[in-house]
Amino acid sequence: MLTEKLPRIQLAHLPTPLEPLPRLSTALGGVEVWIKRDDQTGLAGGGNKTRKLEFLIAAAKAAHADTVITGGAPQSNHCRQTAAAAAKTGLRAVLVLGGTPETATGNILLDTLLGAEIVWAGNRPRDTVMAETVAAQKAAGHTPYLIPYGGSNFIGAAAYVAAVDELAQQLAERQLPPFDRIVFASSSGGTHAGLAVGVAALELPTQVLGISIDKPEVELSGEIVGALATETAQQLGLPHRFNRENIFANDGYMGLGYGVMGDGEREAIALFARTEAILLDPVYTGRAAAGLIDLIRQGKIAPGERILFWHTGGLPALFAPQYAAKLAEKNHQ
Ligand SMILES: *Cc1c(COP(=O)(O)O)cnc(C)c1O
Repeated sequence: MLTEKLPRIQLAHLPTPLEPLPRLSTALGGVEVWIKRDDQTGLAGGGNKTRKLEFLIAAAKAAHADTVITGGAPQSNHCRQTAAAAAKTGLRAVLVLGGTPETATGNILLDTLLGAEIVWAGNRPRDTVMAETVAAQKAAGHTPYLIPYGGSNFIGAAAYVAAVDELAQQLAERQLPPFDRIVFASSSGGTHAGLAVGVAALELPTQVLGISIDKPEVELSGEIVGALATETAQQLGLPHRFNRENIFANDGYMGLGYGVMGDGEREAIALFARTEAILLDPVYTGRAAAGLIDLIRQGKIAPGERILFWHTGGLPALFAPQYAAKLAEKNHQ
């Protein structure tokens, strides 16, 4: 194991299933698509943050924290999984969500059920409110541990290095060849960085291609994922270094911005549901799948390629009214 030196607690149901998607592959014409089911990591709805939290909660415990603080968008899957991880391990969770108080639907409802305290940032910068929240928790006598947005520091990214170990073992057990590409949703960059480090460390001949959710490629590949992958490799004692030359991201599918579901996402959600009964989310995996479908249609992913679509979760957001209403409308046609 590449990550055996880091403290870790068990939260996820691992290994997540690795499955072929034959009906989707046929619908897309000649590309062989497989899926890695990190939507099934099992912790109160699952998703990619559960893997990261195995390492992040272990770090919080090692720091003798009694409270974890993190932040995100109102429908943040990361915040919901952090609330779940805290509930299961006996920690308090305080979530700093952007914007003004919203009705408790989707992930917000789950945050509440899981017992997290929510601090709404209003129109103030979330970073400022996070810092204030840390200070307020300390003043109230708690020992808070701050988990960054998306759990994306080297501790969280290490979980996706371990996930590549897991994938390599599944391939070996089933005598399957490595994939040509791994395609997935990339936003705060921890998943992307970890996958890139893991693939490099195991010398897999696989391109790690992040579909950017909300950042220009220059920024995502270089400053964010390149820097984080390099730091993660250094912390794990690996010699690999990363930058825009060896980190691959595509920023062609950001549409009208973060959290705005467009026709591409709607088509991808419907196609995955109707061919494979795979449920994608409107913000991340729907967008990544829309990118994958378009790259195949354009021939940029060629017939004969073997692709692994890494599902990162996000299902509860489907039930937030702004998305549910639009998806229902489309499906009545
Ligand atoms: C957070 C999240 C991502 C992005 O992962 P990062 O490590 O932040 O880049 C992708 N999909 C879903 C469903 C997420 O919640």
